[in-house]
Amino acid sequence: MTMKIAILPGDGIGPEIVEQAERVLHALELRFETETALVGGAAFEAHGHPLPDATLQLAKDADAILFGAVGDWKYDTLARPLRPEQAILGLRKHLELFANLRPALCYEQLKQASSLKPELVAGLDILIIRELTGDIYFGQPRGRRTAVDGHFPGAEEAFDTMRYSRPEIERIAHVAFRAARLRSNKVTSVDKANVLETFQFWRDVVTGVHAQYPDVELQHMYVDNAAMQLVKAPKAFDVIVTGNLFGDILSDEAAMLTGSIGMLPSASLDARGKGLFEPSHGSAPDIAGQGVANPLATILSVAMMLRHSLAQPAAAHRIESAVKAVLSDGLRTPDIWSPGTARVGTEAMGDAVVAAIRATSSGKTTTTPA
Ligand code: NAD
Repeated sequence: MTMKIAILPGDGIGPEIVEQAERVLHALELRFETETALVGGAAFEAHGHPLPDATLQLAKDADAILFGAVGDWKYDTLARPLRPEQAILGLRKHLELFANLRPALCYEQLKQASSLKPELVAGLDILIIRELTGDIYFGQPRGRRTAVDGHFPGAEEAFDTMRYSRPEIERIAHVAFRAARLRSNKVTSVDKANVLETFQFWRDVVTGVHAQYPDVELQHMYVDNAAMQLVKAPKAFDVIVTGNLFGDILSDEAAMLTGSIGMLPSASLDARGKGLFEPSHGSAPDIAGQGVANPLATILSVAMMLRHSLAQPAAAHRIESAVKAVLSDGLRTPDIWSPGTARVGTEAMGDAVVAAIRATSSGKTTTTPA
């Protein structure tokens, strides 16, 4: 049976970077069916909703989803359920995509692009696993009301609810311990157990699951310390597992260690390994339409898709090798450019990766596009 990939380019730079990722996917000459649909602001403009039923159905029916990015500041005044970002939250929720995998890898060729000293980040290879469907982002009740107690009774206030159930924590802990077994057998669970009831429970449950993985080392760390250690000695980490809110923040911090958020792919997986694959960055409205966005995070998301959802690890490896080859050839989009390298745009970077993939299939080694 031919596998089906749903392609959801979205807004801003989304369509530009997804176009290059699709070209790379087709260059592999594998048997896939793809179908494209609107999502985010583009879907709101056409259908009045950021996640139309047809788009959600396509995502449900597909074996994997390649997602660009959604959002634009011009939608910030819309009612919250109609804002583009609700599309990605809705997809995570409806598809039960509870495990977000974000590798933060510092390529040798890009160590100068990091804001940290090159020796701190050279060779960095950590995996942040963020729980994606629980925590304060989804906890009920939430809203605005008049305070009946607290420091200012009678004042207008807003509130959200942080909560995690045992099964939610157990399943993400299993993902982390299993991932660690394929790497360096070390997990750091990040929480705020000293202050928050929810995260004392998190720590207790993760410790319980750890009993099934005696070969994996488990370390607990408070989130404030983790934020510090990530910039002080990032290579001390291997797999980090944490909740939705802390993971959101720490994974962006880790992204910057690697030089540019434009390099970082991500996978959001359900219990069976079906997933949505997207770059870690947003729709970058500030550079949309200029042809300068870095497509590599999206291209590397295709590699994660091939590995995690489509059982094609060799094809995933071909993409990752092609990306390393174009970096070694000195090609750089503006976000990762440094003196002595060649500045290229989105399309030229896509051309180079496609050429590198074709070169590996034809036995050639050069990657420079004609
Ligand atoms: P952003 O990630 O879009 O941009 C942050 C900075 O990084 C900008 O300067 C941008 O130009 C740069 N950047 C991002 N991706 C790049 C790339 N591939 N190549 C080169 N430079 C890149 O974050 P933001 O500006 O805070 O948000 C913009 C919009 O994106 C907002 O509407 C936000 O809600 C949305 N957003 C969407 C997602 C998603 O779709 N999953 C995630 C985060 C933010």
